[in-house]
Amino acid sequence: SANLPVMMEEKKQTFDANEAAWLVKELNESFRTGKTKSYEWRVSQLKGIEKMVVEREKDICEALYKDLSKPEYEAFVSEIAMVKSSCEEALKELKQWMKPEKAKTSMATYPSSAEIVSEPLGAVLVISTWNYPFSLSVKPVIGAITAGNAVVLKPSEIAPATSSLLSKLFEEYLDRSAVRVLEGGVLETTALLDQKWDKIFYTGSPRVGRIVMTAAAKHLTPVVLELGGKCPAVIDSDVDLQVTVRRIIAGKWQLNNGQACISVDYIITTKEFAPKLIDALRKGIEEFFGTDPMESKDISCIVSSNHFSRLESLMDDYKVFNKIVVGGQRNQKKLKIAPTIFLDVPGDSQLMQEEIFGPLLPIITVENVKDSIDLINSKPKPLTAYLFTNNEKLKNNFVQSVSSGGMVINDTVLHVTVSSLPFGGVGESGMGSYHGKFSFDAFSHKKAVLYRSFSGDASVRYPPYTPEKQKL
Ligand code: NAD
Repeated sequence: SANLPVMMEEKKQTFDANEAAWLVKELNESFRTGKTKSYEWRVSQLKGIEKMVVEREKDICEALYKDLSKPEYEAFVSEIAMVKSSCEEALKELKQWMKPEKAKTSMATYPSSAEIVSEPLGAVLVISTWNYPFSLSVKPVIGAITAGNAVVLKPSEIAPATSSLLSKLFEEYLDRSAVRVLEGGVLETTALLDQKWDKIFYTGSPRVGRIVMTAAAKHLTPVVLELGGKCPAVIDSDVDLQVTVRRIIAGKWQLNNGQACISVDYIITTKEFAPKLIDALRKGIEEFFGTDPMESKDISCIVSSNHFSRLESLMDDYKVFNKIVVGGQRNQKKLKIAPTIFLDVPGDSQLMQEEIFGPLLPIITVENVKDSIDLINSKPKPLTAYLFTNNEKLKNNFVQSVSSGGMVINDTVLHVTVSSLPFGGVGESGMGSYHGKFSFDAFSHKKAVLYRSFSGDASVRYPPYTPEKQKL
């Protein structure tokens, strides 16, 4: 076809393993000079990021619009403001975070003192994804810098405008001898993964998470894996229905049209309550996005035609296509799918087997809301679990019995904004965490240091082990 040469051109590998090896060498050399370790360097880079975000806000919004039709307001709140506040917090707290932490000692080492010293790891790799292509790229980089590392960012090729902007902006605002962007897709990422890094921070799917961890294992490189999964929202009948529905809509469609790792993937409610809930959701969607949500400017499009086809096949699965109770409209040309709700889809349908990552929302019904806990626990551990209820006993039971990366009771998504909470998954949804001080910790080694003096050198610890010594 006429398009073929262009596509092949686009797929040309931009760098290979040899070039990647050179880059790692260069970064390690920079790291070994010790410059990235200094407080001043870390501050200068954080200030560079702050400046970049303030001065180039318009360019960033434009790139996000090109990649995802992300509404400007959403781009500001969920990408730009998130990065800004991470920078501000890091700049304010950095001195404190860098301070060695005193630790208790025991009689066996008396007299002594001990402390935990946070030291940078070296050259680290951040591989990021396309759904929040700006903040999910820059936030881990902020963590790497605050901890004093040299860092390479590999943004997602699926958000090409943001990837290329990041590459330009990093050159302009940051110290290229220790902070770099390398663009590329699978081939380039593979070349980077062949190298020995001191840490790899990956955001993306569990499938690629496995590839990353396998590559890292060859070099004994530790990893943070920020993965996805199916985030459930349990909705009890004892709720403020209007508030619940707004927050569900915010946590599904307002959030990048469902293309978010913490968006509500499916709802569990009781058979009895489902009709009332669906009615309220239908009204809420109309209130937010108008009578024809396909025309709304306040909703992102689907990122690519590949993802559009994937979502279409989830909708057209013979097990679910007649279960649609709200929405269902789609437009391939505009890459738009309306908020779509399905009722009582079978557990073995694709819709319930894989992470949806789009505007489709299945509702599963149970006899008793308590049954939802077993249902969630029978599946891989989610990144976030949501519960809406006024029932204290149910809340406690949910928090105690459901295992997930994080949890929000009576709201969706807001936990990502609380930087004193670690953000990360468990089991299939990932390992390790970040945000706030947790980002600093994710990119630091906690070195145990024991200080002794030459006094108090008790001879009991040394041979020969005389009977007198053994009595002690
Ligand atoms: P993606 O396709 O952009 O892939 C992510 C990164 O992996 C990209 O940089 C890409 O170049 C690289 N990659 C892809 N295939 C590879 C391969 N074979 N070898 C090496 N590298 C490869 O994004 P995605 O995977 O579609 O992202 C969606 C997933 O990310 C969802 O599962 C979502 O839940 C998860 N996610 C998690 C978080 C989080 O913070 N936990 C945030 C956003 C997205």
